[in-house]
Amino acid sequence: MKTIFTATLGTETNTFSALPTGLQLFQETCLYRRGGYGDQAPMFGVPLQIWRRRAEERGWRTVESLCAFAMPAGKTVRKVYEDFRDEIIADLTASLPVDAVLLSLHGAMVAEGYDDAEGDLLAQVRRIVGPDVPIDAELDLHANVSRRKLESVTAMVLFKEYPHIDVPERAEDLFVLIADAVEGRTKPVIGWFDCRTIGVFHTTRQPMRGLVDKCAALEGKDGVLSVSIVHGFPWADVADLGSKVVVVTDGDKVKAERLARELGMEFFRLRHETQPRYVTLDQAMARAATHNQPHPLVLADCSDNAGGGAASDSTFILQAMLEKGITDGAIGMFWDPMAVRIAFEAGEGAALDIRLGGKLGPTSGPPLDLRATVTGLARDATVRFGGRDVIHVAVGDMAAFDVGGIAIVCNTLRSQCKSLDCFTNVGVEIGKKKVVVVKSMQHFHAAYAPIAAEIMYVAVPGAVAPDFLTMNYVNASRNQWPFVEDPFAAT
Ligand SMILES: [Zn+2]
Repeated sequence: MKTIFTATLGTETNTFSALPTGLQLFQETCLYRRGGYGDQAPMFGVPLQIWRRRAEERGWRTVESLCAFAMPAGKTVRKVYEDFRDEIIADLTASLPVDAVLLSLHGAMVAEGYDDAEGDLLAQVRRIVGPDVPIDAELDLHANVSRRKLESVTAMVLFKEYPHIDVPERAEDLFVLIADAVEGRTKPVIGWFDCRTIGVFHTTRQPMRGLVDKCAALEGKDGVLSVSIVHGFPWADVADLGSKVVVVTDGDKVKAERLARELGMEFFRLRHETQPRYVTLDQAMARAATHNQPHPLVLADCSDNAGGGAASDSTFILQAMLEKGITDGAIGMFWDPMAVRIAFEAGEGAALDIRLGGKLGPTSGPPLDLRATVTGLARDATVRFGGRDVIHVAVGDMAAFDVGGIAIVCNTLRSQCKSLDCFTNVGVEIGKKKVVVVKSMQHFHAAYAPIAAEIMYVAVPGAVAPDFLTMNYVNASRNQWPFVEDPFAAT
């Protein structure tokens, strides 16, 4: 009987964020042992669930270790990372011999003293199992993939879609990859290429849509086992910041490297077209003033995206809506446990004065003093990810307020506004609203595009403002676009 060892560890670290990632943040986001999440798998636990099911179907044994993931914030506290890593290594050591190791990681986790935390973990796993046991990892496409990671694994598969609606599909891909290797049908080898490009790449529109489809179409033919585009996570000042293409072939490293280069250069050539078109706050408000369609104008508050490590309590857009006299709108979700607590104390229907948002420093903007009516309350709420039933995200207690026709949703566990339940959980119906603001960079897109008349990405100040040229990178290479127009020119 074969034995596979599985674990989840990760977070997406914004090294510029003032919020530390400690044990409590893991406990609030996702911290389970040996499948303790039951039927409600968290996003990065979904692969563990799938791998266990597929292994059981083959009569294999699964040893499931830690499942730990934290909502993105600043660097992970050193001891927290080391304890998690050591727990996985201890579980693995106790399970030897194993036939394969499958890990669900993020790929952009930075801990104090470890700029490449998951690279450190993978290297230790390799040391424990030796050179011949396959180690495969599923990563978020916002990973910063180091040479250390690439050299420690047998294969890696990254999400293809942004928004990340394909976590289960990529887990299935990875299982097939490893099962074929374990049963001796294939010998996966990796080729990769550094695209020397920093940016944000939505796969919901061209030209990224076409490139992703092209990568997927190459898989399963002519010895190509897997093709992944690594988008990178730009709010991390680490040496490995950047985009890459990773190709896994059956035993042909030269082919893997050639294909990675070919696709990587295509990705690079598309760099100007792939970047999202951002609008200013003034442009967004001007459009809101003239919007008169039956469905909402959806504004993405990209710069306050909790999923990128922001506080999710910035007030720039709400303040502008109030100043412009918008009386038919919705905005969510503000991470404001104090406002939620006050709403629960006062109860539904109560009118009260609240001081909203603006608590986490200059990137959060000023707090707003508002006369508000409590319109909805929900305890221990969860939201779905991209509308999918298989992925549940705990968002804590929620409260909805009405301020002059604008519905404001607050919650107690900092979380990105990913699905419609971020509003409907507290009775806010947004389908007929004029303006809906979502604190999200892009994950909102899967659920909101079907109900939106129009979507605009608004660049305001914030912890994840999409302005890489002004960011204070010290460790990241500046021989990348957009710092230089053509970083390949000299080579
Ligand atoms: Zn991501």
